[in-house]
Amino acid sequence: MIIDGKEIAKKIKAQAQNCCSNCARKPNVVAFMLGEDPSAESYLRMIEKTCRSVDFGYELIRFETSISEEALLNAIIEKNLDRQVDGILVQMPLPEHISEERVIMTIAPEKDLDGFHPLNAGRLFKGEKATRPCTPLAVMTIFKALEVDLDGKYIVVVGRSNIVGKPLAVMLMHQNATVTICHSRTLELEAHTKKADIIIVAVGIPKFLTKEMVSEKAIIIDVGMNEVDGQMVGDVDFESMKDYVQMITPVPGGVGPVTNAVLLLNVIEHFKGV
Ligand code: NAP
Repeated sequence: MIIDGKEIAKKIKAQAQNCCSNCARKPNVVAFMLGEDPSAESYLRMIEKTCRSVDFGYELIRFETSISEEALLNAIIEKNLDRQVDGILVQMPLPEHISEERVIMTIAPEKDLDGFHPLNAGRLFKGEKATRPCTPLAVMTIFKALEVDLDGKYIVVVGRSNIVGKPLAVMLMHQNATVTICHSRTLELEAHTKKADIIIVAVGIPKFLTKEMVSEKAIIIDVGMNEVDGQMVGDVDFESMKDYVQMITPVPGGVGPVTNAVLLLNVIEHFKGV
């Protein structure tokens, strides 16, 4: 079965729209962007489109890359204090003279849409209520939408980044999965992936996971987004696997659209203060 991320995203958007239709005001998102970068621009355009599609407010605040760290932090603090603002995003990477860490720490945890603030990361780690980073949240949302029971499953996550692999492993563990995280120093990766009920790949190498590395009962989630000859390609060799494994996400049309849509769920949580 090929997992239809667009369909899942559509349902999340409908849920988001219904959720706030009777509220006194609409939820509002503010994004900060420094300088010009085509891939960041297209990412933020997508966020804007998603917000507008469900009648959420969206404001993009642009600065030159020469802005001082202090001025950027003050602009963020101003939005932290604005009661009309429910979610704040700062497009990374930042220029060298600005500390990513200080920027992340400055965004109020209750407005942190990416879930990168250490307070949110710590709460997530402890199994407490936290804003969860969108990509891992998207993967969990896909499992929920497809009613995949994670309890007792052997799940291999390939990739240990702070924004995907690590938080995802924690979320899976909270659902009682047995989780193994693999990375570039893992020995005999195949020995793990072959045994896995579910494999989630976030390495950033086109067609990294091949049919020989998986069992036919596996569910494969491809987080990878790599541009090859102008085309978006995942970390999984989709063509060789799509008729072999139990379920698989395509790229594009898998995790990507769901990641985009679950941002709305984080906005709603902040908006409602839950
Ligand atoms: P990252 O920070 O570069 O991390 C990549 C991870 O892959 C690292 O943990 C690295 O191991 C591991 N790795 C690299 N080569 C490996 C190998 N040969 N064998 C096993 N593991 C290997 O990347 P990321 O930010 O997590 O992103 C990963 C992919 O997901 C990229 O394609 C990115 O574009 C995509 N992505 C998609 C979304 C979405 O919404 N769909 C969101 C974010 C990212 P080490 O730690 O040992 O270096």
